[in-house]
Amino acid sequence: MKTNHPSCRNRSAARASLRAMDILHDPYLNKGTAFTEAERKRFGLLGLLPPQVCTIEEQVQRVLENFRRVPDGLGQYIMLTALQDRNKTLFYRVVMDNIEETMPVIYTPVVGQACQVYGHIFRQPKGLYVSRDYCGHVKTILRNWPGRDIRVIVVTDGERILGLGDLGANGMGIPVGKLSLYTACAGIPPDQTLPVVLDVGTNNESLLKDPLYLGIRRKRIGGAEYDAFVDEFIRAAREVFPKALIQFEDFANHNAFRLLDKYRREICTFNDDIQGTAAVTLAGLYSALRVTDGKLKDQTILFLGAGEAATGIADLCVSAAVAEGADREAARRRCWFVDSKGLVEAGRTDLAPHKKNYAHRHAPLKDLLAAVRSVKPAILIGASGQPKAFTREIVAEMARINRRPVVFALSNPTSKAECSAQEAYDWSDGRAIFASGSPFPPHTHRGRTLVPGQANNAYVFPGIGLGVAVSEAKRVTDEMFFAAAKTLAEMTSSKDLAQGRLFPALAHIREISARIAAAVADVVYKRGLTSQPRPRHLLEHIRKAQYQPVYGKLAKR
Ligand code: NAD
Repeated sequence: MKTNHPSCRNRSAARASLRAMDILHDPYLNKGTAFTEAERKRFGLLGLLPPQVCTIEEQVQRVLENFRRVPDGLGQYIMLTALQDRNKTLFYRVVMDNIEETMPVIYTPVVGQACQVYGHIFRQPKGLYVSRDYCGHVKTILRNWPGRDIRVIVVTDGERILGLGDLGANGMGIPVGKLSLYTACAGIPPDQTLPVVLDVGTNNESLLKDPLYLGIRRKRIGGAEYDAFVDEFIRAAREVFPKALIQFEDFANHNAFRLLDKYRREICTFNDDIQGTAAVTLAGLYSALRVTDGKLKDQTILFLGAGEAATGIADLCVSAAVAEGADREAARRRCWFVDSKGLVEAGRTDLAPHKKNYAHRHAPLKDLLAAVRSVKPAILIGASGQPKAFTREIVAEMARINRRPVVFALSNPTSKAECSAQEAYDWSDGRAIFASGSPFPPHTHRGRTLVPGQANNAYVFPGIGLGVAVSEAKRVTDEMFFAAAKTLAEMTSSKDLAQGRLFPALAHIREISARIAAAVADVVYKRGLTSQPRPRHLLEHIRKAQYQPVYGKLAKR
């Protein structure tokens, strides 16, 4: 029987306004001031919003005005991630339309600062915390995630966050930021992404003592216990999200290489620190070789640093040289390394497994200049985290040996770069072909303005993820990384090269990612790495799959 009792009227009014508040609090449904008059009437939103109906462009303008008023990067990070919690569409519209301005805030370098104080700036949980305490129940934890059709998981154990070391569960900022870039740069729908922290403890004493730290308060587990926990996560993720690519991020050296080696032939996975860095650097090298008119297989490369980035680059260069017809051993012999102990050579007994392929016969050498003089590289790549390690003498020696020396100073942030763009150009009399990990401003040398290239991983990992997701690839292979590298290099115009730029402008990242995705998917179909049929028009198919930050029609639920 219907009743008109005031308490019932109140209850149904409460239910209606609850629905309205649900809509306003759902970041996938919320449009804020952009709800139309009709939507406001239909969903009980009248009065809950200011009367003016705004376009998304006006909303973007308002966000940007506020964003630019915030005086520091961390404040801007807090502001943008709060927007992401409130209104996904608007967040991605702001980021996509202003990618060069916002990327350094939602990702490196500012995300590093955010991770250092994550427990202090925490507002809303984002991503999934798979803690060691839930060992044996990981599948249940994964099933708690509301999304079902997950296509990309980024997972970290927080042990080596950027160059900042062990940040434990604070590392969550990394998968969150990285997945925002998968969406913004490539158009992977945000509800198909899942950030994960494997909280296995931390050895960071100041975090363990910090009352606002949000992770488990104990030392890291290691050895067989760690391996079994990671394995439980991998098996559970495969079962709960069978179509997901699992991207490892910011694991320490001693686990990163091992885990990649263990899982790459078994599941759909890659490690961006190793393989993504390699692909973007290889793209830079392909561009540089267009300038020098050389072939990769003929180049001698000397690396400073022999960690995830440097050996990942060397491994991919070897695979790419083999694809050009080189013998694998000969290609390896063209890659040389100097690490913190000096030249990596066969007589050393302290080498980690990932360096051993590159330990050639040579007398021990302690310093980089001696190595440059002896090895006579065409290409010098720094990934050592050692600021100013490329001295004037070293760059001048590279310029003495080569007409156009290739010098990449990849260490991040800018303060850690092995040399600046200006130094590379000035010390080589303007002949260096330069790229860096962090951005450097253009430099005018003897009246010629040179624009340094930034080897930003964001050029490649989003497109690789999109290609893998759209084609439903079962594995990620080296061939996909050099297909991505070739595509990126081909998108660098002759005009870019003439100015010194080895990469296309980041503003074109959606199109770059679509083309990389098509190149990656092409490998997937050609090699039979999927059970899906190849679409007739691959690039068009990929473009259609890209998420667009536009407000949808709100349907009555
Ligand atoms: P890592 O810790 O795995 O490796 C660092 C390496 O540097 C180790 O091999 C270490 O032995 C070596 N090293 C330390 N001190 C040295 C010294 N004095 N002389 C010579 N070598 C020394 O770190 P990673 O992931 O390989 O990253 C290295 C650097 O590369 C970081 O600064 C990182 O920001 C940068 N990086 C850049 C990009 C990019 O440009 N796209 C991508 C990834 C990493």
